Amino acid sequence: MNTRRSFLSRSGLALAASGGFTGAGVQLAAAKDGGADGAAPQKIIHLVADGMSMGTLTCADYLSQQVRGRSLVWTQLLNQKGVVNALMNMRSLNSQVTDSSAASSSWGSGSRIVNGAVNQLPDGRNLKTLYEVLGDAGWKRGLVTTTELTHATPAGFAAAVAKRGMGETIAEQYLERGVEVLLGGGRKHFDSSTRTDKKDLYADYLKKGYTVMQSKAELEKAPLDKTWIGTFSDSHLPYSVDYLNDADLQKEVPTLAQMTKRALQNLGQSDRFILQVEGGRVDHACHTCDAIGAFRDQIAFDEAVEQCLTYQNEHPETLLIITTDHGNGNPGLNGAGPGYGQSPALFAHLKEATASFSVMLKNMGRTPSAEQIRKVIVESTGYKVPMSKVDQLAPYFEKKGDPLYSLLNSVVAQLGQLMGNHWGIGWSANMHTADYVPLTALGPGAEKFRGFIQNTDVFHHYMALAGIDFKNPTMPLMVENPAVGTLSPDSFKRVEDYQNVMV
Ligand SMILES: [Zn+2]
Repeated sequence: MNTRRSFLSRSGLALAASGGFTGAGVQLAAAKDGGADGAAPQKIIHLVADGMSMGTLTCADYLSQQVRGRSLVWTQLLNQKGVVNALMNMRSLNSQVTDSSAASSSWGSGSRIVNGAVNQLPDGRNLKTLYEVLGDAGWKRGLVTTTELTHATPAGFAAAVAKRGMGETIAEQYLERGVEVLLGGGRKHFDSSTRTDKKDLYADYLKKGYTVMQSKAELEKAPLDKTWIGTFSDSHLPYSVDYLNDADLQKEVPTLAQMTKRALQNLGQSDRFILQVEGGRVDHACHTCDAIGAFRDQIAFDEAVEQCLTYQNEHPETLLIITTDHGNGNPGLNGAGPGYGQSPALFAHLKEATASFSVMLKNMGRTPSAEQIRKVIVESTGYKVPMSKVDQLAPYFEKKGDPLYSLLNSVVAQLGQLMGNHWGIGWSANMHTADYVPLTALGPGAEKFRGFIQNTDVFHHYMALAGIDFKNPTMPLMVENPAVGTLSPDSFKRVEDYQNVMV
């Protein structure tokens, strides 16, 4: 039934596609949806752009056209025959606004839980995870991410703990559960010198037959007949905008697309596998209202999507799911000037930026002078910001700001608003949002993901498609507490802590 014309050659992608890791060109064949024949997938690739609001996708698409001369693969894919599109409700057990651990756990267990936990109900019962169930059934499993490997989104497919911050326990659970391919950041949760219990987890992984790697070069030559753990940074991998401006990082650290390609080469030797790929730092950039950080990482995520689409073309028994776990900050290109005609000129400034907010804030220092703040902004973005605006930002470094909307009471939220004058991008805040999220599916089983779906449906569909009859326990949604009706001074403190973002 796969006789349709090649979407990729129609869109010009066949010429534009790059092989990434080896630099070899990849010719993309006709896309094969396999979505209407009722067949079950032998392989599942679940891609997550963490914390991607629709405005992030939109702006990354426009930026991609400016810096790559083509749209995102994801947006082009939406018109492909056989591709199924959905909106998904990601709410958690205690809030319409989910965090990443409750979101990933809903996919990874089929049960809604409270924000901050990983596959554990509020009464303490652990849920059996997707990767345990599929592992028992003989599926190989992989986790690839730009965050720490033990971060919420990868953990939600394989681990069960009371608090998402329990990275050391999560690192042990991956080993106990034998997840076959682990690529990302977060050495500190595995290394004896940084673990609180001083356990050498790398030695334990080696004992179990894993190839342990720490650099891009080691990943390039890792043997395909082994299980893998690759950690390429002490914490998260760098933001793409910083990576693109640092030749040393490019030598040492693989991109998300490069890790994804290698993971598929390894897992692809098996008859059945599931791989989660997370562009995790889109979320972090939005927690700092950093437009260029978010949009560059969304483009890097799209390069991983392209690798997976290439794989799906060559292996049509693969179900491809592309989605996000929640909105974050809801950035948008606002209409500016007569007839909104100023917006394109403002947006065009984005591509001149050379550093993430994380790097800019590091270069400013903890309590910078107004001159220092201005110097870093000019050097990193080209924005010759008026001193009057800098003077309004400066008090937030000393926690002396007082915005009308309390959720904007932080340096990053104010820096984001300030840069909106130059880039045209406005933010709702620097927190997750309750927005329904887009989901795109391609391949056998894709038709199950049509329309308006619930986050927990994803787990049940994966079970059905794998021919497994399994359900975890669930609990009823928590009811709203009318007593907590207005923002307190502490309301801007979010579930995830800032130290994870400000690296
Ligand atoms: Zn998230």
